[in-house]
Amino acid sequence: RAAAEALIWLDGRVVAAAEATVPVLTHSLHYGSAVFEGIRVYDGRIFENEAHMQRLLQSARLLGYELPYTVGDLCGAAERLLAEMGLRDAYIRPLAWRGSEDIDITGANTQPRVMIAAWAWPNYYGGSDAEPSVRLTRAPWVRPAPDMIPLQSKASGHYVAATLNRQYAKQKGFSDCIVLDAQGRVVEATVANIFLVKRGRLVTPKPDGCLDGITRQRVLALAREAGIEAEVTDIYLDDVANADEVFLTGTAVEVMPVVQVDEHAFAIGPVTRTLRAAYDVLTGKRPA
Ligand code: PMP
Repeated sequence: RAAAEALIWLDGRVVAAAEATVPVLTHSLHYGSAVFEGIRVYDGRIFENEAHMQRLLQSARLLGYELPYTVGDLCGAAERLLAEMGLRDAYIRPLAWRGSEDIDITGANTQPRVMIAAWAWPNYYGGSDAEPSVRLTRAPWVRPAPDMIPLQSKASGHYVAATLNRQYAKQKGFSDCIVLDAQGRVVEATVANIFLVKRGRLVTPKPDGCLDGITRQRVLALAREAGIEAEVTDIYLDDVANADEVFLTGTAVEVMPVVQVDEHAFAIGPVTRTLRAAYDVLTGKRPA
């Protein structure tokens, strides 16, 4: 096959993207019960493939359905797709959903389906003086409470608010939103976790109100290795305003400095730089 041809791994087969279609009576299309992942590929190596596929299975389980694959099956499927598409620096998007066998809202008689897509995502080495950074504004839509919807499930339904928040940010000329919960605690950005640095120490929200991101967990481990203290606690907008550094973590944004949150400006500081460099070594983006 030609390297650039768009292919989809769909329920065990690799097919042309045009053939990968779903019926309009798909349960998940109506009720938001799909679950998905975002995975990065650095120079041909799928980064954290297992952790993401494990979370995909768990996300479906939290919504009451079981995918008919093991973590190993799904990791292998992603590897196969990548090889067939000839991609080396890429983004992989697995999606699982309840099928079209039963439109009843319980979804009880639906068959689980899985697809994996991939597209090129160039990895620029972040060593130039044009450092990437983002500016955030307060989100108009709050994150639901943990008793409203299973927050550790990366369920499509969650991303209704993310879409609205991101649109709002763009309209205001910002890159993204800082998302609060109904109690006014800062929980995350639309698709990334948030960290503050205060007097050399890291502060990040407890993972009860946010997705406990894989990058968040790796960055906390890297901080430990680097001797940087970390506190996992409730944070409020005042804490953000008084922080020395602010950064986001996520598969897509990696370790991303935040240079503005509404009227507050932040410099890109030493702790952010240290952790970003360490994360870049982990991904293979930067030589060890
Ligand atoms: N929060 C939300 C709501 C997200 O969608 C993501 C992206 N998966 C993250 C945080 C960051 O998670 P990860 O580091 O696992 O990509």
